Amino acid sequence: MPSLPRDASTLIVGAGFAGAATAWALGRAGLGPGLILEQEDTWGVHASGRNAALLRLAESDDVVATLVARSLPALRALDETGGPLLARTGGLTLAGAAGAAELAHLHDGLRRRGLHAELLGSDAACARHPWLAHVAFARALWCADEGVVDIHALLGLYLRRARESGFAVWTGCRAEALIVEGGRVAGVRTPQGEVRAGLVIDAGGAWAGRLGAAAGAGLPLRPLRRHLFVSAAAHGIPAGAPMVWMEDASLYFRPESGGLLLSPCDESPAEPGVPDTHPSAAESLAEKIHGHVPGLADLTIRRSWACLRTFAPDRRPVVGPDPRLPGLFHVSGLGGFGMMCSAAIGELAADLVAGKRPAWIDPAAVAPFAGRPWSAER
Ligand SMILES: Cc1cc2nc3c(=O)[nH]c(=O)nc-3n(C[C@H](O)[C@H](O)[C@H](O)COP(=O)(O)OP(=O)(O)OC[C@H]3O[C@@H](n4cnc5c(N)ncnc54)[C@H](O)[C@@H]3O)c2cc1C
Repeated sequence: MPSLPRDASTLIVGAGFAGAATAWALGRAGLGPGLILEQEDTWGVHASGRNAALLRLAESDDVVATLVARSLPALRALDETGGPLLARTGGLTLAGAAGAAELAHLHDGLRRRGLHAELLGSDAACARHPWLAHVAFARALWCADEGVVDIHALLGLYLRRARESGFAVWTGCRAEALIVEGGRVAGVRTPQGEVRAGLVIDAGGAWAGRLGAAAGAGLPLRPLRRHLFVSAAAHGIPAGAPMVWMEDASLYFRPESGGLLLSPCDESPAEPGVPDTHPSAAESLAEKIHGHVPGLADLTIRRSWACLRTFAPDRRPVVGPDPRLPGLFHVSGLGGFGMMCSAAIGELAADLVAGKRPAWIDPAAVAPFAGRPWSAER
């Protein structure tokens, strides 16, 4: 049995979308070889393997909207060479009359980024998708570029490409502490021994920011639990139907396994790990369906699970070198958008590691601490 490598020029902690896409992008930029450490026996045990798989471009936050729009062509290119990864279902954002201004704002953002979007009244939307008769809404935003990703295939593809460019993926090995020498990071300690590294990238999802804490370089990230539900067959909603995001209700659903995958968009603070489910989420889902999708009020739920979305105080990702501790780099705080933004986040991380300043995003908007409203919780 091979033993844990003792040296790596770049060591990435975590084999979720943050770590895997960063390794993929570093490898693509010729910045390998390196090592990815994953504490679980396999990858995708946490948020990256348990999320809703939506590629949603109608994002209200400008930074997240930029990252997901930047990821789209990269995901399409990966789809062509390593797919199938992407189901191009399109997506509908629905709102009541009071939400018309928000839909118009989202529409402007999509058009500015060159994406295919259209505003529709409820009659026009129902004419295209008769099953929308189940839903209470006044206005719809259609985005043809939205879709659903095969998340296990995408995560596996990032890791395969990372391996091909010289990254080893080491599972069942937890980075327990940073080794700090002469005021900079020199590697990590694990139960299997030390690994020396010139650069440590903390991509630890819900655990991110804790690794650096003992060395005075922690991050104020907050893991929040969210539930997903899968129903039995939903009357008349075809398997290829677009995903539906209900802006006013904070509810989304899309076809899955012959029924629907739904979330009531709940959030409650949780410790890192696989969270228990709580009955209040099922109650919230039932209430929201009753109020906003009355035609589906008798939907039977077959299974449910919960997982963690981890946020910085301003709900933007954290990507960049730690200003307090040379040799430590963060790719974390990927909240509810880490899968769909992964290609751009990896690209940005690789550029910053190489000392390049990308023209398509202001790195200060995602940098750890620099100019960010960390105190402004959203
Ligand atoms: C209910 C729900 C629905 C979501 N839906 C979507 C969606 O539709 N679209 C979308 O884009 N995003 C979605 N997300 C968000 C997305 O899943 C996350 O943003 C993304 O998976 C985060 O990736 P990550 O790599 O940062 O974290 P993780 O997936 O948690 O990966 C981090 C990895 O690091 C490992 N690790 C941590 N600490 C250590 C250590 N010290 N040593 C070794 N290994 C370590 C962990 O075991 C873990 O495997 C959703 C999330 C939830 C909870």
